[in-house]
Amino acid sequence: MKKRIAILGSTGSIGKSTFEIIKKNKKDFDVILLTANNNYKKLIKQAKEIKAKNVLIKNEIFSDKVKKGLKNSSIRVFSGDISLKKIINKKLDYTMSAIVGIAGLQPTIDAIKNSRIVAIANKESIICAWNILLKEVKRNKTKILPVDSEHFSIMELTRGIVDEEIEEILITASGGPFLNLPIRKLKKVKSQKAVKHPNWNMGKKISIDSANLMNKVFEVIEACKFFNFNKIKYRVVIHPQSYVHSIIRFKNGLIKMILYNADMKIPISNTLYEKRNIFLNIKKINTAIFNKNSFYNVNKKRFPSINLINKILNSGPSTATIVNASNEVLVDLFLRNKIGFLDIVKTINKIFKDKEFKKYAKRKVKSVSDIKLVDNWARLKTVAICVK
Ligand code: NDP
Repeated sequence: MKKRIAILGSTGSIGKSTFEIIKKNKKDFDVILLTANNNYKKLIKQAKEIKAKNVLIKNEIFSDKVKKGLKNSSIRVFSGDISLKKIINKKLDYTMSAIVGIAGLQPTIDAIKNSRIVAIANKESIICAWNILLKEVKRNKTKILPVDSEHFSIMELTRGIVDEEIEEILITASGGPFLNLPIRKLKKVKSQKAVKHPNWNMGKKISIDSANLMNKVFEVIEACKFFNFNKIKYRVVIHPQSYVHSIIRFKNGLIKMILYNADMKIPISNTLYEKRNIFLNIKKINTAIFNKNSFYNVNKKRFPSINLINKILNSGPSTATIVNASNEVLVDLFLRNKIGFLDIVKTINKIFKDKEFKKYAKRKVKSVSDIKLVDNWARLKTVAICVK
């Protein structure tokens, strides 16, 4: 039986990789829904190519263009903030949640309610709303699978393992494009250089997060939410080759790691085929790289973001939402050359010192509107700090 699937954010980096796997394995999948925000041309092309049943363009400005592009087909076109339930007539088998930013939260919740399996790439919903997601997961008996390489690796390495067996969980970081740049030059780096990751081709937002290691800050928080291991066991290490994504050090001296080429299609296909390592036509790893792997400690002068991990874990349940929102605003400002590269982490640190910070950080959120309240405060505060 073909799996009935949806890709939320199909025009993005993760969305396109998911789409490519499905295109090569059409016999296994029936695409019920593809979604995008602005990239209507790509959405139209994908929908025709895969014979999707429905498409959703979030930005209503492009709705007529999508309708026109698909007018000679039976593909139904939706736009704006429409719930999944109104589009589909039967529960989906699988949804890839790959919208970038907090904008992915409501669609992820919607997917959990309407899909048997949800693969989550959208780390923002895990970081900011894990308790809400978990409640819906339990209520709807949905299976959620991590897509991020580090969490995919931890999941693979710790099946059947309990916390007492583990001494340390290492999350690796490539170090991004500025790993070897003299620290004094970081102040002046431009966004065009920062988005060029040495090992991956990713969306702009996550590429900037990789360049200053904010993505590792979020990944540790994400792992703390996703897995039932003691949060003090996580540590970030630099591994420029990016073959290993996580390492588990056990109390008895055993170390476990898995290696794979830095291609998101591997964890994605694993979620599509429900943890089975189905053959993929992917560049095979050359075993000669085994002796070329290096691992070393993070230089916190180069990557001061790493100090935020403990601050987030120890400052109240909504701190991650505040940092995430502030970071989204700051990355956008940096991409538009309005602030410098180092201002991203500096400004986030200033938020922690704001007189209203504690009030918002300690909030226990129960709904998306609760999260939006905290998120909005952090966005406005970030802009206010930047224009000072
Ligand atoms: P991209 O920026 O490449 O793609 C984002 C997708 O979301 C696009 O389809 C975009 O549509 C859509 N989108 C953007 N804004 C909105 C909105 N307001 N409402 C609805 N849809 C929207 O991002 P990535 O694929 O790189 O990342 C997606 C998520 O996965 C992020 O949370 C990221 O942190 C996470 N992730 C990414 C990895 C990677 O390798 N790229 C690895 C691990 C996790 P449009 O194209 O039309 O603008």
